[in-house]
Amino acid sequence: MNKQMRNDINLPTHFMTDEQQALADQAGKFFFSEFHHLNAEMDDTDDLPPSVFPKLGEMGYLGLNVPPEFGGAGLDFTSACIITEQLSRASAAIGLTHVAHDNLCVNNIYRNANDDLRRKYLPGLCNGTLVGALGLTEPGAGSDALGSMRTTAKKDGDDYILNGTKIYITNGPIADLVLVYAKTSPEKGAKGISAFIVETDTPGFKVAQKLNKMGFRGSPTGELVFEDCRVPAKNMVGKLDGGVAVTMSGLDLERAIVCFNALGIAQRALDISIDYAKTRQQFGKPIASFQMVQAMLADMYTQIEAARSLSLKTAAMCEGLEEGEGGRGEIHKLTAAAIFKTAAATSFVLDKAVQIHGGSGYMRDTEVNRLYRTGRVLEVGAGTQEVRKLIIAGELLKN
Ligand SMILES: Cc1cc2nc3c(=O)[nH]c(=O)nc-3n(C[C@H](O)[C@H](O)[C@H](O)COP(=O)(O)OP(=O)(O)OC[C@H]3O[C@@H](n4cnc5c(N)ncnc54)[C@H](O)[C@@H]3O)c2cc1C
Repeated sequence: MNKQMRNDINLPTHFMTDEQQALADQAGKFFFSEFHHLNAEMDDTDDLPPSVFPKLGEMGYLGLNVPPEFGGAGLDFTSACIITEQLSRASAAIGLTHVAHDNLCVNNIYRNANDDLRRKYLPGLCNGTLVGALGLTEPGAGSDALGSMRTTAKKDGDDYILNGTKIYITNGPIADLVLVYAKTSPEKGAKGISAFIVETDTPGFKVAQKLNKMGFRGSPTGELVFEDCRVPAKNMVGKLDGGVAVTMSGLDLERAIVCFNALGIAQRALDISIDYAKTRQQFGKPIASFQMVQAMLADMYTQIEAARSLSLKTAAMCEGLEEGEGGRGEIHKLTAAAIFKTAAATSFVLDKAVQIHGGSGYMRDTEVNRLYRTGRVLEVGAGTQEVRKLIIAGELLKN
């Protein structure tokens, strides 16, 4: 951990500064006016409108943590998290697609690639002309993503030949490039993995299928197949067999930022539940006048605030996380704890939100129903709740 950067954060880590609040307000207004109205159709068609990425790029919301010299916004990690919450509040699906692009793919490339690769790919990824994805999970390698990985990359002259399958890849069906993990030294197990940038027009790459999800619809998820896919050796990100460091450090940041996808969804569910409770009348009064409904709203608010405090503290602790750091120690434990708590809080909030909406909440076309179907996966993606607990306990019991 870069101590200097950590010590520069003189503010309590669980509050937003006035500047950060202003950033949140500005981003929230923009995302609501541009994206919220797209949600119902995205839920029906499961397609991402092609205008979304260029619009995000034009407004400076891509490459959030990438310095301006490579085309990015040059923001700190906490600001990226705050923007993620606002985007997810306006459109959960665009929020997830944005995180897969901007954090999993772009930020990992920026943190781990050499300057040639940064110069080649980051400007397009930051202006919305290129869409990115990250391919780690495989049909037989989910929670044990590294140990059970079957995708291989074999050296052949100046290239590597990739063979294997990646599944549940966010943005996979629309990506222009995928940051892919593959075994370069299978005999070394999890220590023989390397990361590659694969352009999706490379012969041997194909989207085997777009997957039909229950939520986050409009954020396309796919199964990707590599059949003798020839990738230039210079597209390796990080060191040969150095993929574990890239993955584990990236996964900590992923868990930290995904907390804010969850918070955006939970906050939106609370906001619409308050509105519904004030307007829906039963027994001649708004249902908000009934104490049992009030109790649900109070519980929802408290869960969100507790999760947000932990998430903001975690985001602050991620500032200055250096290349190769993470994947162990305090930050590994804290990021796992933050997403564990926030995902559980989000599930709780969504359940209560549907309850407050009564029968209407069970109707597929309502916003609360869409949020409910969407939020469930936050207990699964970026490592399941069980894996998160394994990480926390593993760190607590070390030594
Ligand atoms: C919508 C969506 C988007 C995704 N996006 C991406 C992406 O962009 N890129 C990517 O690489 N991946 C992505 N994923 C994959 C995601 O990270 C995996 O689904 C997740 O890690 C779990 O793996 P699995 O689905 O194979 O479940 P499994 O590992 O098969 O787990 C099944 C169950 O067994 C439990 N379990 C497994 N091992 C243990 C253990 N040791 N102890 C206790 N319980 C255990 C799990 O907790 C779970 O309850 C995405 C998934 C979804 C659903």
